[in-house]
Formats: sequence, C-alpha cells, structure tokens
Amino acid sequence: MLTIRNLHKAYGHTVVLNGIDLDVHRGTTTIIIGPSGSGKSTLLNCMNLLEVPSEGSLQLGAYTFQFGPQQLLDAKTVRAFRQKTGMVFQGHHLFPHMSVLENVMEGLVIVRKQNKADARKKAEHLLEKVGLRRFVDKYPDQLSGGQQQRVGIARALALDPDILLYDEPTSALDPELVGEVLNVMKELAGEGMTQVVVTHEMHFAREVADQVIFLDQGRILERGTPAHVFAQSRSERVRQFLSRIS
Ligand code: ADP
Ligand code: MG
Repeated sequence: MLTIRNLHKAYGHTVVLNGIDLDVHRGTTTIIIGPSGSGKSTLLNCMNLLEVPSEGSLQLGAYTFQFGPQQLLDAKTVRAFRQKTGMVFQGHHLFPHMSVLENVMEGLVIVRKQNKADARKKAEHLLEKVGLRRFVDKYPDQLSGGQQQRVGIARALALDPDILLYDEPTSALDPELVGEVLNVMKELAGEGMTQVVVTHEMHFAREVADQVIFLDQGRILERGTPAHVFAQSRSERVRQFLSRIS
C-alpha cells in the first residue's frame, strides 16, 4: 500500500532522514520507535507531505511522487493525496471553538462539500466507534486528554483515509488515560485499518504491530516483527534503547 524508497530529508545542511526504504502493507500496523531526534516525526510528516522529502520516492495507492532538487509538486495533487492519509498528533490539535461533533464534521463539510445532515450522521457514527457518542455536544476543553485523542482519531477517519498516521498519540497523556486510546487503535487494527504509529508503548507494539522499525540518526537500524526486534536484535544500540525504556 505504501512504498518508500531511498527517502532523504535535509534542512539546509542538516540531514534528518538518510535513505529510508519502507513498505507498509494494507491492513497492517507498523510501529516506529527510536531515540529522540532520530527523525520519527519527520518520516511520518513526509508520509503525508506535511514535509517534502529532498530525495527519493513515495507511493501510496495510485499516487507516486519522485522527489529531487528540481521537484515542483502540484498543489492540487498534494491536497488530494493528503486526504488519503489521516494524521493524529500528540495532542492539542482539535479546534477549541468547535464542538466534538463539529470537529469531526469539519473535513466532510469543508473538504468533501457534504451536506450537513450527511456529515453529521457520519461524524456521529465515527464518534460512536471511538466510544464518545454521548460527548458530541461537548467542547474539547471539557474532555479528558484521552477523550480528545479519540476525537482526533474520529476526525482523522472522517475522510476515509487509506492509512492512519499517529505521532506519539499517547505521550502527552496521564498514564491512566493511555489505555483507552490504545484500545481504539487496536480495534482499528483488528478491522484491517492500515496504521503507522510512532510510540514508546512497547507493550502495545508487541501486541499489535505487524512490523517494528527502529530509527536512529535518520536511518532504519532494525526492522521486523516485534518478536524479532525486541528479542533478537543484533544491534547494540537497539538493545540499549529497549532496555532503557522497557
Ligand atoms: P523525532 O521525532 O524522532 O524526535 P524529529 O523528526 O522531530 O525527530 O527531528 C529529527 C531531527 O531533525 C532533529 O535533530 C530536529 O532538530 C531536526 N528538525 C526537525 N524539524 C526541523 C526543522 N523544521 N528545521 C530544522 N531541523 C529540524
Ligand atoms: Mg517526534
């Protein structure tokens, strides 16, 4: 479903991604781990063109992009492509002046030009799915952090993306709220949603990941099943990292 080849990203002379090759198959969950500053967020942002890679290629469904110094991306194509990718950030990304329902409806009404009745029906369905049907008329600041993240997931699902991207979706949450967010992600995995998740939740990774990627200094140092990466990595850096966080 998603194919990345030789992806590079540099800011000026600072190379942040240094030749990433990655395949994400339909219906699988890929977990990205690695030290702070290793390029995890940048890689995720490149996957939906929030950041434009300096070099390499990216293919998602019918969209293929080749990046390079002369690269000029067509804005319309980028917009269409970005609707195929749903993004869930660390936190504080809901519109504060809109109700929970309006937050989820926004993309359907503004981007899809759906009529409000249809958009409302779909938003209600998605909020039901993340266990927040009763909260439709609340505002973000009336919700817990975990509930806000679940609204974020419902909103990301609204445009029927081919893939959901999460950047540390639980790291800003109090520990007791982490589980409810991970449970929604686990359910989506069970339903065959394709997901790429940057997270430090190793228990979740073990249980849900089809593939674990370890990123270090803009390169993939290790990849494979959770069993392989967590128990059999030959890389000293990977083993050290894992022993520190688990
Ligand atoms: P991670 O998510 O793994 O912590 P990031 O992808 O956020 O890592 O960042 C990787 C590196 O890229 C860091 O050294 C960071 O300082 C640098 N970086 C990220 N965004 C920018 C930017 N907009 N301009 C310059 N450097 C950046
Ligand atoms: Mg990050």
